[in-house]
Amino acid sequence: MVKQPISDPMKIICIGRNYLAHIAELDRDLPTEPLFFMKPDTALLPDGRAFPYPVFSEKVHYETELVLRICKRGSSISLDSAHEYYDAVTVGIDFTARDVQQRCIEKGHPWEKAKAFDYSAPVGEFKKISDLKNAQKISFGMKRNDQWAQQGNSADMIFGFDTIVSYVSRFVTLKEGDYIFTGTPQGVGEVHQGDLLELYLEDEKILKFEVK
Ligand code: ZN
Repeated sequence: MVKQPISDPMKIICIGRNYLAHIAELDRDLPTEPLFFMKPDTALLPDGRAFPYPVFSEKVHYETELVLRICKRGSSISLDSAHEYYDAVTVGIDFTARDVQQRCIEKGHPWEKAKAFDYSAPVGEFKKISDLKNAQKISFGMKRNDQWAQQGNSADMIFGFDTIVSYVSRFVTLKEGDYIFTGTPQGVGEVHQGDLLELYLEDEKILKFEVK
């Protein structure tokens, strides 16, 4: 039997509960180590497309997050060398079917149905971290229908980039081209069909799309 060559898809790792004020708004427990889950590459939203509101949910939330791009393969990466494994950052939305997630949590089931669905991870254009105005305090945000819906700053993260990269790589090998969503600040809320979302990294608009 001839095997198909294995393609090399990228993966998306997402950190949960990484900002104090967001943990409080959803009444979740404070983590003692990073919490993560994954989305497949089919969660990416192709450029220029609208986000299709999923038919299986009546309460889809946006979570606006900084997203790291992995630039080098590694596992069991030390905290000291973690910065060598990512080189670029952007802003993305971790779309979450909150009603589905709540039912999963109540039953003790995995979150994939609520988090990993098609087009649930739109990401903007990546920027080299070395080109940012302030790589230690990266500001970001999202406007929904021209009003600020969420604004955050990397300085408020519980677990910083290096800790996240080092921790996740103890369990899962990171490869060039993988993305890591680093958690949402406070202010998550519902999206509706017809909404226009605009994502900002520092002062620059880096992605715009509609919900259909
Ligand atoms: Zn998230």
